[in-house]
Amino acid sequence: GIATVKSFSMEKHEVTNFARLSKDYVRKNEEAIRVSSAFTPVIRVFVLTGFLFTLIYGATLTFQGVLEAGSYSVLVFLTQRLLWPFTRLGETIDLYQRAMASTNRIMDLVQLTPKTEIFDLGIQENINTGSIEFKSVSFSYGKLSVIKNVSFEISDKKFVGIVGSTGSGKTTLAKILLGFYRPKNGEIYVDGKDISKMSSNQLRSSISYVGQDIFLFDGSLKENLTYGSNGISDSELEEVLKLTMLNEFIENLADGLTTQVGENGIKLSGGQRQRVALTRALLKESKILVLDEATSAVDNKTELFIKKSLDKLRGKVTILSIAHRLSTIRNADKIFVLDDGAVIDSGSHDQLLRECRSYKKLWDIQTGSYDFTNM
Ligand code: ADP
Repeated sequence: GIATVKSFSMEKHEVTNFARLSKDYVRKNEEAIRVSSAFTPVIRVFVLTGFLFTLIYGATLTFQGVLEAGSYSVLVFLTQRLLWPFTRLGETIDLYQRAMASTNRIMDLVQLTPKTEIFDLGIQENINTGSIEFKSVSFSYGKLSVIKNVSFEISDKKFVGIVGSTGSGKTTLAKILLGFYRPKNGEIYVDGKDISKMSSNQLRSSISYVGQDIFLFDGSLKENLTYGSNGISDSELEEVLKLTMLNEFIENLADGLTTQVGENGIKLSGGQRQRVALTRALLKESKILVLDEATSAVDNKTELFIKKSLDKLRGKVTILSIAHRLSTIRNADKIFVLDDGAVIDSGSHDQLLRECRSYKKLWDIQTGSYDFTNM
């Protein structure tokens, strides 16, 4: 958060915060040291008392002839051997408590039951087409009902857009399709198969997902592009790079595909990161491509590139594009309009402009022709 702190000139506030937390830490450490430093002398006094008792009482018994001198010396020696380890008791208790704190944290994690099984043993069936069907699907986050009885069908290799105002449930819909969340009611079918009966692994290998938060690994461009698509040949890579129009950008780099992208792709622009993520998703060769607001963080030029890439991809895979900018899905075969978790309309762009007030409003806002005095 350094850039945010600096841009809001909050350095002083953060320094004060940090100083307060550090002081608190120092104070707690001092307390712990006080306790542990008091503990060792107490134990030593206890050891000394035990040792002196043996020494004096044993000596008395020896003088009285009850105990032999040899036994007495062994007793003194053994008492010392027995009591001395007690001085390390404090250290041992300290270590034990630290270990228990860590163990509890690990056990808490181990005992968590996943809400959805990740590598469960579902039915292993091949996914042959990218058809999708939602049948009366409802979902809520706790008490907040987000998806309300949504039903729609997308045929194989169709290009479908989902639009709706912020918070209408578009991202949640994509996450349900990817199996990140299980619907409360209803069923979802991919290639005619119920996804709740599939292993999540199998489901996700049939869907490529480009989410809102793109993560790139610290490594070369090639490593990032081919992540998740083992054994891809250079010519196949070249072909997809042409499709997403990344080839020109890569050719202009001194190190080409071996260029290091830095941690989370810091050396690439937002638009380049988006295109790398899109290429990576396409290289996975899944039947379905889900783009979630993939154009929200890109410049106009990249938006155009993505639009063109989608046009080129058309008819090759099923595309489900959750659109932030309506221009990217203008040419979609069908557009679903989501409002407050329900599909309120669907159709082509021109059809919706004529017949759907919500869609027309979204379009007018984006094209700058919306009259805000109506609000
Ligand atoms: P959209 O993508 O259309 O902007 P989302 O699907 O992200 O909408 O969110 C729909 C609603 O669900 C919003 O009201 C949001 O606050 C809520 N929401 C989203 N994610 C979570 C979550 N993980 N936990 C609780 N509520 C959430």
